[in-house]
Amino acid sequence: MTFDLKRYTQTLARLVAQPSVSCALPQWDTSNKAVIDQLAEDFAALGFQTDIIAVPGHPGKYNLLATLGRGEGGLVFAGHSDTVPYDADQWSSDPFTLTEREGKLYGLGATDMKGFFPAVMEAVRDIDPSQLHAPIVVLATADEESSMSGARALLDAGVAPGRYAVVGEPTGMRPINMHKGILMESIRVLGKSGHSSNPALGNSALEAMHEVTSELVQYRGELQQRFHNPGFAVAVPTLNLGCIHGGDGANRICGECELHFDLRSVPGMHNDELRHEINRRLVPIAERRKIDIVFSTLFEGVDPLLQPRESELVRACEKLTGASAEAVGFATEAPFYRQLDMQAVVMGPGSIDQAHQPDEFIAIEQLAPAIDVLRSLIHHFCISSAATASNHKGTT
Ligand SMILES: [Zn+2]
Repeated sequence: MTFDLKRYTQTLARLVAQPSVSCALPQWDTSNKAVIDQLAEDFAALGFQTDIIAVPGHPGKYNLLATLGRGEGGLVFAGHSDTVPYDADQWSSDPFTLTEREGKLYGLGATDMKGFFPAVMEAVRDIDPSQLHAPIVVLATADEESSMSGARALLDAGVAPGRYAVVGEPTGMRPINMHKGILMESIRVLGKSGHSSNPALGNSALEAMHEVTSELVQYRGELQQRFHNPGFAVAVPTLNLGCIHGGDGANRICGECELHFDLRSVPGMHNDELRHEINRRLVPIAERRKIDIVFSTLFEGVDPLLQPRESELVRACEKLTGASAEAVGFATEAPFYRQLDMQAVVMGPGSIDQAHQPDEFIAIEQLAPAIDVLRSLIHHFCISSAATASNHKGTT
């Protein structure tokens, strides 16, 4: 089947034209409302019921749930509506003006991942809603590139929008069933400063931090013994001591020292447990040195993704694309959908190689095959009666 490239391009151009940068730095962060409104209007025109949901605690940020048809199960096309910040002077054309050059559509978010939504529109356009025995759901979230507050809000609400989620991040339409989890944490040691000539005048935060970093390196070694997954290019969990700041002079006892680190976990590890274990290792250091150690979170974190290969969704994606499911190095919203008991796979047109950088583009040649796969997924999960039977015995 073909699709209307002109219509796709016009739709994507309108989405790209609306800024929706999400960033922990307030000077960059913008509302995503205009993109959500545009998507709601476009999907409503295709017959979808649309629901725009404010993300609690994040003013100006919204999720969109759009639903076509009804019934048990449901196939969810999920994606984020935000983009990362941009360096305007490094772009060859305006990042907010979708520009076609040599078979590529350039624009901020073209591949990561505003370009997914018009692909879904093209895939559903010829579907007769009366044939659907399970709904087609489109979910557009806020803030994936920063706090993931949109997906978190959905998880907090506790209602799965469907049974199967395809998260349309740019993977060149290769199904991704695994990625690592990520934690970013801070450890602050609060000692007491004093004249360096007499150690009794203070309590060195820097020396306590020396024990803290040794403990973390020791813990990393233990984790790497316990966990190993050959599906990843780096098969073990990693822990990077990223930056450290402390003290103010050679002749002063260091009064305060702060460390930031990240921990990238493999499936089978859970962020809550990791935080608990780290905390348990810090307590004896604080007690022994009679010093305060404050362990806190810089970013709420994402658990690792594992969608078993034998599950219905992975098998369907593998069959339709001819590609075996694999692992990637970046984190996505998919683990939140897994926590809602959905099956979730990451798969969409475009390439992560072009994401998060100037002259981001989506290649036009990828679109027609991607739209065909999305259309076939709809037939498999929402129309074909063969899938109805397997839905009931489908594994998670
Ligand atoms: Zn993305």
